[in-house]
Amino acid sequence: MSSPVSSRRSFLQLAGTGLALSGIGLAPASTAPAATSSVVLPTRSAPAGSVLLNFNESPYGPAPAAQAAARDIVAGSGRYLFALAGELRDTFARQEGVDKDRVRLFPGSSEPLNRAAVVWTSPTAGLVVADPTFESLSDLAAARGATVAKVPLRADGGHDVHAMVEAAQRMGAGLLYLCNPNNPTGSITPAADIAWLLAHKPKQTRLLVDEAYLQFSAQPSVIAQVMQRDDLIVLRTFSKLYGMAGLRLGVAAAHPDRLRELASLGDNPLPVTALAAGLASLREPGLVAQRREQNTRIRQATVAWLEARGFRCLPSEANCFMVDVQRDGSAFTKAMAERGVVIGRSWPIWPQVVRVSVGTEAEMAAFRTAFENVVAADR
Ligand code: PLP
Repeated sequence: MSSPVSSRRSFLQLAGTGLALSGIGLAPASTAPAATSSVVLPTRSAPAGSVLLNFNESPYGPAPAAQAAARDIVAGSGRYLFALAGELRDTFARQEGVDKDRVRLFPGSSEPLNRAAVVWTSPTAGLVVADPTFESLSDLAAARGATVAKVPLRADGGHDVHAMVEAAQRMGAGLLYLCNPNNPTGSITPAADIAWLLAHKPKQTRLLVDEAYLQFSAQPSVIAQVMQRDDLIVLRTFSKLYGMAGLRLGVAAAHPDRLRELASLGDNPLPVTALAAGLASLREPGLVAQRREQNTRIRQATVAWLEARGFRCLPSEANCFMVDVQRDGSAFTKAMAERGVVIGRSWPIWPQVVRVSVGTEAEMAAFRTAFENVVAADR
């Protein structure tokens, strides 16, 4: 089992090699006129029976109680069931200690991310993001003419909040995006750094903190701060730990004025199956702790196996991690898929480092076998 400390050290060693980790934590923010990735995506329609470790989905699906709730509600789905949405919103707000008028439900967190790009970025209001990070917001912002400043992660995998604030000041950014834990690295940005960022960013620059993977980590949420601030938006999703990616449910928490801005692009009632499963998930005692422990155990065992063979991994607290495969990441991903294990891709900044989602014990055993085969075939 690798400890967080040893993982962190490995990450620093990796950065020290100057491998593909160009300028990590040192380079000034760069601007990217078009943020579309040039890297070939792994197949979306893998052959039946493939092990899918490519989209950071849950191999376990919704909890049994959530599945039962979704099944049971189908007979009533001739109605919009607006009251059910209210019950879910109120339950979430109560559990997180925020007012219910600061919570809005969406079909996944992709929806508020897209809306954020439209509402808070423009050709005159740029976006600041980390590199690498989850790209859907920056892709849409760039496509709509916003300048996107990409700031390399620090050597410890955290967001370089100082460089991000500088970039925001320089460009008069409308929005700053911080994913914690970050996708694709799974690395975390400590609460103190986020506090520093909030205290020093330009007033007009909103901060969007994407907590899609927070439940897998030991990190505190910043969600309570939406009670005091009108420039912070926090996103959560039921797609990851709750295993509901295909059901579509997400949450935005923010000052009511910010939620109204997100809602200004129109409303759309949510699928009642997602509402019922979401509510059942929130009410399932021990679910988060059990799935977090399971994910951590399997991720740490896989990382330890890779590092014992000389393949360094970045420190992760999410249901994915990145491994330096010491060769072209796209070719490696393709070779893995040919052996029935579909892993994630590399990001342009680190072409030899690929993302792997954490699956079940059996899936990670298949991953190890395929990994060994690909490496052996390359010798
Ligand atoms: N945010 C991050 C960081 C993600 O990794 C993803 C999906 O992979 C999303 C948001 C969007 O997820 P969803 O729309 O399923 O909630």
